[in-house]
Amino acid sequence: MNDTIYNNIFDAHAHYDDKRFDIDRKEIFNTLQSKGVCGIINNAIDIETTKISIDYAEKYPYIYATAGIHPQSVENNLPANYKEVIASYLKHPKVVAIGEIGLEYHYDIPKNLQIPVVKEQIELAKDFDMPMVFHDREAHLDTINILKKYRPKGIVHCFSGSVEMLREILKLGLSISLGGAVTFKNAKQPVEVAREVPLDKLLLETDAPYMTPVPFRGKRCTSDNIVYTATRIAEIKNMPVQKLLDITKENTMNLFNIK
Ligand SMILES: [Zn+2]
Repeated sequence: MNDTIYNNIFDAHAHYDDKRFDIDRKEIFNTLQSKGVCGIINNAIDIETTKISIDYAEKYPYIYATAGIHPQSVENNLPANYKEVIASYLKHPKVVAIGEIGLEYHYDIPKNLQIPVVKEQIELAKDFDMPMVFHDREAHLDTINILKKYRPKGIVHCFSGSVEMLREILKLGLSISLGGAVTFKNAKQPVEVAREVPLDKLLLETDAPYMTPVPFRGKRCTSDNIVYTATRIAEIKNMPVQKLLDITKENTMNLFNIK
């Protein structure tokens, strides 16, 4: 089904700094555009990956970066001045958001460490009038409460909540991005969410190298695999795949202020 060549594939969320790309990263970056990929936002998880993301963005015109501290990084020698450091990177012309930030309750990371860091970074996003990229894993209630209180702009990435939570997110003016989970055989909630989300609030992502869509589930993901996710969502929404790619590309560029 996917021998068709699509274009306007904009991957709103990937991690090409992951070591799984060490062997062929350059080759991937040099070939993705020939597979229809027009943009990638490489999401940082700490200061080191912020620098690396910016390096990719400086080398490749179609790659953009975020700057931020992921909840899984709050225990790893987070410098006391991390806010100033992140703020300095937000001024870079190819840093399009603060992220990824958020709450990770699947792993046992103290909430009293995670919550202040996410709140401070949301405040930073507001100070800079920039979007944020929020990671919510098994932390739906606290996520909603924090987003309601601070009202930042941006997205909840790899959205894993219910349709009810989606409605709350939309009321706050936020968008969501969906990835490979919608293609999984047992996917029920992601399918309902894909059906419900208005087209102007939807972005597509891989979260590469993770979350690889069927039929490659379990293998390393690259941005061109979005076609499988898009095909599934287009089927759910009963629309042409290319049209979905066109719209989500526009949404991504508008949300992250990419010209
Ligand atoms: Zn991510």
